[in-house]
Amino acid sequence: MSTSVENRVEVQTETRKNYQEIIKSTILIVGGGPTGVAAALAARRNGADVLLVEHYGFLGGAATAAMVNPFMQYRADGKPIIAGILKEIIEAMAAEGGVVWPEAQGGALIFDPEAMKMVLLEKLQAAGVGIMLHTTAVEAFANDDVLGGIVVHNKSGRQTILAQVTVDATGDADVAWLAGAPTEKGREEDGLMQPVTLNFRMAGIDEERMPSRKEINRLYDLAKERGEINNPRENVLWFKTTRPGELHFNTTRVAGIDGTSFMDLTRAELESRRQTKEMVAFLRRHVAGFENAYLLATAPQIGIRETRRITGEYIMTEEDVLEGRQFPDVIAQGSYCIDIHNPAGTGTVIKELPPGAHYDIPYRCLVPLKIDNLLVAGRPISTTHAAHSSTRIMPICLATGQAAGTAAAMAAHLNKMPREINIAALQQLLRQQGVLLD
Ligand SMILES: Cc1cc2nc3c(=O)[nH]c(=O)nc-3n(C[C@H](O)[C@H](O)[C@H](O)COP(=O)(O)OP(=O)(O)OC[C@H]3O[C@@H](n4cnc5c(N)ncnc54)[C@H](O)[C@@H]3O)c2cc1C
Repeated sequence: MSTSVENRVEVQTETRKNYQEIIKSTILIVGGGPTGVAAALAARRNGADVLLVEHYGFLGGAATAAMVNPFMQYRADGKPIIAGILKEIIEAMAAEGGVVWPEAQGGALIFDPEAMKMVLLEKLQAAGVGIMLHTTAVEAFANDDVLGGIVVHNKSGRQTILAQVTVDATGDADVAWLAGAPTEKGREEDGLMQPVTLNFRMAGIDEERMPSRKEINRLYDLAKERGEINNPRENVLWFKTTRPGELHFNTTRVAGIDGTSFMDLTRAELESRRQTKEMVAFLRRHVAGFENAYLLATAPQIGIRETRRITGEYIMTEEDVLEGRQFPDVIAQGSYCIDIHNPAGTGTVIKELPPGAHYDIPYRCLVPLKIDNLLVAGRPISTTHAAHSSTRIMPICLATGQAAGTAAAMAAHLNKMPREINIAALQQLLRQQGVLLD
């Protein structure tokens, strides 16, 4: 006879007396990015007590720590395909003047990262989610395929957190990997992952006098030929921000980086800062409108597009994305293209879905093999390298976070493992909370 989840977690506790401070929560969310915040809100609103652990002193994940912007598309055929908590967060940021609506930006929604930080924090506080900032999950104990405890590290030392169900929202599948769930990295043929980018912002730009994108890219190519620019990226990519005269640049590129290696991460930070200085100098020297522009901010950390992906009960493929496939266990939808920045250097592969199409994400992509009381949402869900290039965008990550939090609360309430819950009941709960699944 199988023991209940609660009892099995208690058994694990016995073996871990060395970490003196034990913290208990029904649901543990590791990671406070778009995914983790949505998961925490959803789990809490479905009646569970929830603790969220975040490495940084603020929330938002890549949206704030790597200054990623904008929200890529969450619509198909002009109609939203993702709503729920995403909609709520966008509306809260808009109320503070923190967004530029997609109509003005070809389908993407620009937001102010500072508005994002405030809104996410206020939402978690209002919902009554327990928050541990400046805290990193560093160890996981799993026995008999059950995650018994997570060890976290912070300035106070180490603590062990015991939870009935954990949602891994670390972006890197840290918890799944630490617990021994199967994961993969990068391209199937060579393991190479998408390149990394340090985002930066410039201000003091006279936008009226800026030349076209085509002309700026011509000037960029000439600067490369002269040896003034040493950057494998094929073009200059920038977006408007919520403020006039300020632009957001997603244009540095470092290839051959494994975002789970501290040595690679260090190398990437050094090289991308060098590229940033070079780009700023190029723009100021050669591009009209930038004469008095200045570097306003670089992101606190390099932006990581791809690291681990879990192997779940289903692995989504490029065909699933491009053919807009539907699944009976749909828990979120996406409409973003296949978008692979060349893992080896120059070039970006874009493959669009048919006009107006969207695809389903099955619940099984959030359910890792091997470990029972764990769900993985956001960037590392179970996909191929190519499908990941579509599912990795923030609105989709957030939608899978909402689904994982809801499923975690359901499983805990029923004292079941997440892989055992009734999918129709989960879908019904999600729909009741404004999630679009049809
Ligand atoms: C350069 C770049 C450009 C991009 N452009 C876009 C774009 O234009 N539009 C778009 O929608 N998406 C874009 N993306 C993709 C998107 O930003 C990410 O895929 C998305 O943010 C992933 O969300 P997440 O919540 O799963 O992970 P993250 O946003 O990475 O959040 C993970 C959180 O977990 C925390 N964490 C990690 N490990 C631990 C641990 N062990 N313990 C405790 N906390 C931990 C981190 O500090 C972080 O706060 C881009 C990504 C990059 C890097």
